[in-house]
Amino acid sequence: MDALDLPGLRAALVAERDRLRAEVAETIQAPGQMTYGSQAAAASQVFEQQRDLALRDRSTTHLELVDAALARLDAGDYGSCLRCGHTIAPARLEALPWAARCIACQAELDRGHR
Ligand SMILES: [Zn+2]
Repeated sequence: MDALDLPGLRAALVAERDRLRAEVAETIQAPGQMTYGSQAAAASQVFEQQRDLALRDRSTTHLELVDAALARLDAGDYGSCLRCGHTIAPARLEALPWAARCIACQAELDRGHR
């Protein structure tokens, strides 16, 4: 834990949160503002909207991870694996400041274990 650069990690998380918030806000389009010139334009606009929504979903999910990491920083329990409670490797947190699980637990989750 004491090897962690918490102010640096917090700064990285805040920067990431701001970037994601801007990204989520950017991809929101009010359906009422859409104008369909033709059938083809309508189709491509629907396609673009769906792509934006998928992108926004990913950004929103990521934003939740970043917010949760900031909450753990505030609570003082940042850097512990949510699954096994062990300390997450500092190198992993430097690469992924929002990581909520240690590498071993994440690997198990990725394999479908809970
Ligand atoms: Zn773990």
